[in-house]
This record gives sequence, structure tokens and C-alpha cells, in this order.
Amino acid sequence: MTVGEELYKLVAELYPICRSITGDGVRRTLEVVGREIGGLEVHEVPTGTRVLDWTVPREWNVRDAWVANATGERVIDFRASNLYLVSYSAPVRATMPLAELKQHLFTLPDQPDLVPYRTSYYAERWGFCASQRLVDSLPEGDYEVCVDSTLADGYLTYGEHLVEGQTTDEVLVSCHVCHPSLANDNLSGIVVASRLARMLGEGRRPRYSLRFLFIPGTIGSITWLARNEDRIDRIRHGLVLSGVGDPGGFTYKRSRRGDAEIDRTVAHVLRHSGRPHRVVEFSPYGYDERQFCSPGFDLPVGRLSRTEFATYPEYHTSADDLDLVGPAQLQESLEVCREVMEVLEGNGRYLNLSPKGEPQLGRRGLYGEIGGRSDAEERQMAMLWVLNLSDGNHSLLEVAERAGLRFALVADVASALEEAGLLSRTAGG
Ligand code: ZN
Repeated sequence: MTVGEELYKLVAELYPICRSITGDGVRRTLEVVGREIGGLEVHEVPTGTRVLDWTVPREWNVRDAWVANATGERVIDFRASNLYLVSYSAPVRATMPLAELKQHLFTLPDQPDLVPYRTSYYAERWGFCASQRLVDSLPEGDYEVCVDSTLADGYLTYGEHLVEGQTTDEVLVSCHVCHPSLANDNLSGIVVASRLARMLGEGRRPRYSLRFLFIPGTIGSITWLARNEDRIDRIRHGLVLSGVGDPGGFTYKRSRRGDAEIDRTVAHVLRHSGRPHRVVEFSPYGYDERQFCSPGFDLPVGRLSRTEFATYPEYHTSADDLDLVGPAQLQESLEVCREVMEVLEGNGRYLNLSPKGEPQLGRRGLYGEIGGRSDAEERQMAMLWVLNLSDGNHSLLEVAERAGLRFALVADVASALEEAGLLSRTAGG
């Protein structure tokens, strides 16, 4: 099985679970994530806890929900798909005529075969989602409605995993875990982040500590920020992962700062990946980057997606299913994330120890080593660029950008030059 196939299998395992911003669906999801990573810290924050300008809501759980016709047949059934129930629906048991029922039904008239995804977290009500075609087919008459849910004091649950690095400077990777059976918007980010956490935890101890968050959207990041306000200045770089399993090209949304190292890093990796992509400016709308980039925090956190959310027809509908995401796309997204981490890890500032005139590379075996290599010319250019810009003011990533070369090559020649005594890494670089 390829890594992509393993990731896809995990998406399929998580797909049926009824997640929301609180409840047992989140807990079950985090159990799977913990199993994949090999450990996950699960936090439970009580209902009513004040978090920044928000309050942790009541916990929501569902046993069953349905709409039945006069003969008792379920015409809408939560057991068939959790998308049929408006998330956070309050409990109800009633019989009503079709006209009254329709006030609680949500459809997509322009996509009459699809079921929409709807939530009502902060206004207490109940509702069902269905295809327009199904609603149009319902005959007049009385319908029995049952939402067997609980909306009660409980907890907001989120998961956190730290790969300890050599320093306490952190890279943050965050994804949301609050959507029910939606594959791209939710599960793709969860499985890529889980695998990334496992991979990076297995290798050599990284320079940065890597913090992974598996949190319900908006209220989860607000809760995490509220509880970690005193530690937030450790975050040097961050990435929100969402919608990374569809077949579209990559979209990177810059942090609020616009020119943070993470912004340059992801743009660089995508530019040299040969894959279709675009880099878009920050806006205060989207996923949890909105909270991380709120002005009181202004963290260097961008977002990596494939097709931008809300611009693909399957978005927030029943068509965001196991057919929309694929093993190859998931693997590619994981690969981009891994490369981003490698650049962040390897980036730094160096000082040319022989800055007056070009040092004689041939005498040090650095010119000669080139003979026969197919990338000889590129490698030589990389050396010249690194030597020229290593004045303590340019990072290797900036050298790579200015030279139009891949970071990996620039980092590679930098270590050869360092070994030859021509370069030294600056303190804190
Ligand atoms: Zn969404």
C-alpha cells in the first residue's frame, strides 16, 4: 500500500463519524488520530468556560434522528447519513403537516441531487437537510419528526501533539475536526497532519518543536489561544491544513504579515514543485488562520489547501465524499508539507569567512568536485550565490529565491562550504 492509499483508508475510516464542534464524534476521531500518531494529548474544556470573547457551548450528541411519513417509513434518516441532520439540532418529537416541516428543511435548489451541510451552533433550533429532489417528491400529509439529541453541559474536546525539538521555538500545524461526513473539508487535513506528525516524530530530533492541533473550527482555535496565551510567542511559523485531498492545484493563503518566513517558504516549495498552484493574499475570512492571525496575536500562520474552499461545487455538500479525495492527492499534499518543514528546518543565516574577492574554490576541492556532475553548473552557481549573499543578512531561503534555485540545492552547497571552512552559521540564524 502506498502512503497515499494508507491516508485514503484513514479518510474512509473517519468518514462515517458524526463530528461537530463538541461531542463524542470528536472524541472518536481523536482516538483514531492518537492511534495513527502514536499518542495524542486530549483536552476537555467545560461548557461555560470563557475563552477570549467567546464561551464554550453546551455539548451536543445524537442518538438518532429522522422524518417519517404517515406509514411510518423514514423518508429522511440520520442513520443513512449524518449530513441529513442540521448539526447542533435541539431535541424534538412532533407531528406536523408538510408545510410546517418544510420550514425546517434545507436544500440546494441549484444542485437538486445533493444534500447540504448546515449547522446551528449558537442559535437553538432543529432542522434537516435533504436533496431538493427528495423534498419535491414528498406528498402532502402529516410527518413525524424525531431528533433524539442531547444539548447539555459537557465539554469541548480537542487534541494536541508535540514533537519535541532541540529548541522551544515552535512550528504550529492546525486542522479542524468538526465536520461530519465531509471528506475533503475536514478529513483530508486531519489525515495529512496526523501522518506528518508521525513522520517528523520518527526521524532525527528537529530543530523546532512541532505542535499539532486537532481542533473544532473557530471555537477550538479560540479556546486553544485563550489557554495558551502566555506561550504564543514561541510560535515561529504555522500552517493551517484544510481541503488538501481534492484533485485541484494547491492554494496557499499568506499570513496576515504577508511576508513571513512561512509565506516565503510555502511559495518557494510550490514554485519549485512543478505542480499547479497559486498564492493568495491574506483575508480575514476562511479557516482558523483567521484566529491565529487576529490582530491581538498576528501569528505567522498561513493556510495550505488545494482548491480554495467554497469555490468547488462539492464544498459543504454530500458530494464532498470519498470520491472527491484521492490517494495521490493526499500523498502529494503530505509531500508538500514535508518539504515545507525541511525548508523551515534547514533555513538560516550564514557568514562568508572569506568575503574579500571570491575564495579559490578549486584549491579546496569545491571546484573540482563539480566535474562530471550533471548539475555541475547549477551547483557552482548556487555556491557563488551563497558566498555572495552570506553577509549575515540573508537567509538561505532568500539566497535560493534571489538565485532562482531550489532550497535543497542551496542548503546542500552551504553545508559543503561550511565543511570547507568558508562559511559559518550565524548565532540565532
Ligand atoms: Zn467547512
